[in-house]
Amino acid sequence: MNNFDFIIIGSGISGMSFARLKAKEGKSVLVLERKGYAGGCVHSLTHEDFWLELGGHTIYNSYQSFITALRDLNLEDKFLPREKASFKMYDNGEIKKITSKLNKLELAMNGMKLFLLKKEGKSVRDYYSSVLGKNNYENMFYGMLQAVISQDASDFPADMLLKKRDRDKTAPRNFTLKGGMKTFIEAVSEMENVTVMTDCEAVDISFADGLYTVETAKGVGYKAQNLTMACPPPTAGKLLAEVAPDVSELLCEMKGVKVESMGIIVKKEDIAIEPFSFVVAKDEPFTSAVSRDIIPHDKYRGMTFHFREDALDKEGKISKIEDVLGIDRGVIIASAETVHFSPTLDMSHKSRIKKLSEAVSKHDSLNIVGNYFGGIAIEDCVLSSKSL
Ligand SMILES: Cc1cc2nc3c(=O)[nH]c(=O)nc-3n(C[C@H](O)[C@H](O)[C@H](O)COP(=O)(O)OP(=O)(O)OC[C@H]3O[C@@H](n4cnc5c(N)ncnc54)[C@H](O)[C@@H]3O)c2cc1C
Repeated sequence: MNNFDFIIIGSGISGMSFARLKAKEGKSVLVLERKGYAGGCVHSLTHEDFWLELGGHTIYNSYQSFITALRDLNLEDKFLPREKASFKMYDNGEIKKITSKLNKLELAMNGMKLFLLKKEGKSVRDYYSSVLGKNNYENMFYGMLQAVISQDASDFPADMLLKKRDRDKTAPRNFTLKGGMKTFIEAVSEMENVTVMTDCEAVDISFADGLYTVETAKGVGYKAQNLTMACPPPTAGKLLAEVAPDVSELLCEMKGVKVESMGIIVKKEDIAIEPFSFVVAKDEPFTSAVSRDIIPHDKYRGMTFHFREDALDKEGKISKIEDVLGIDRGVIIASAETVHFSPTLDMSHKSRIKKLSEAVSKHDSLNIVGNYFGGIAIEDCVLSSKSL
């Protein structure tokens, strides 16, 4: 069947959340995905019964819409609380305590502002330099906030990063899913009415007689009454050039970075570094290393390094991983590389999004979802799908 109620371009959390909602309404949904796996920035690498996240890794109990979706898919028995493990900093070729550069006096002198100063209208740099002190921001929190989005967060609107949301205290404070974050993606893929096609890049969109036709790189065309763009804004912009030029123009203006992630799995006995949750780095070709140590395994440990775009080739990345972890590449038993898109938001982002939403509303049966509307977290993606 090549005719659907909805075609969704992009199988990340945003597209799959939207697919779940429409499938629940009884609509037939086709999700087209360029890569060889579904999930986008949610990507779990599996080796035997061990998994490692190459992208999104943590669900907080403040992600109420996502938790509702997980429960609705009967996944509550997969909730796996994350154990505590330390945060570290990689500085001058050494792994140090994250607080090694914290100036406590400066923090004490500014800390009260945390309760007084509003985030609205301030950039991350302005807000956090005020409440933590300039040096504390530059020396410690700059790296931590950069690690959250795998790029310099200084010019992001402060209220779009690390949002305060109400918590659902019946769920673990922070957790992941048994089998990895991909468990959610798999559950949606298995829903009745949902067809997910991977290795299926959308390359052209046309609209005639009330139907969208999406051509794929394989030369196959799919038709639907409704179209939902759930791919990064520059790609969505290019694809919409003919059918919605006004929307296309606004999407093409939006910027982002490519995050080059490399995950490695080693046997426990082959790595000496003490268990950690994150290593953050400031002036390095990588912004963070995220470990699986928060869900200990009897045989294996795994770490994913998030490298800056074009900073190192594959050889350089492996050498850096060897240096930071103090291992020899010969002990790596499984590894994988992927590239994620992370949008770059600035202080004019909200007005751009307002214009974009107005332009989209003029096109019947066209929707746009993604991690560049209310914020970049998984919960923001789910909320962007729910709001339609
Ligand atoms: C390294 C990293 C770690 C993160 N960790 C967390 C975390 O722990 N907790 C949290 O809340 N958030 C986290 N985030 C943020 C969150 O995971 C992402 O914002 C979210 O998963 C993005 O989902 P999305 O569906 O909007 O976009 P994406 O996941 O980018 O999905 C878009 C999809 O569109 C596909 N696509 C592109 N072009 C085409 C085309 N032409 N045809 C078909 N398909 C196409 C892409 O291949 C991709 O699969 C993290 C992000 C990154 C990058």
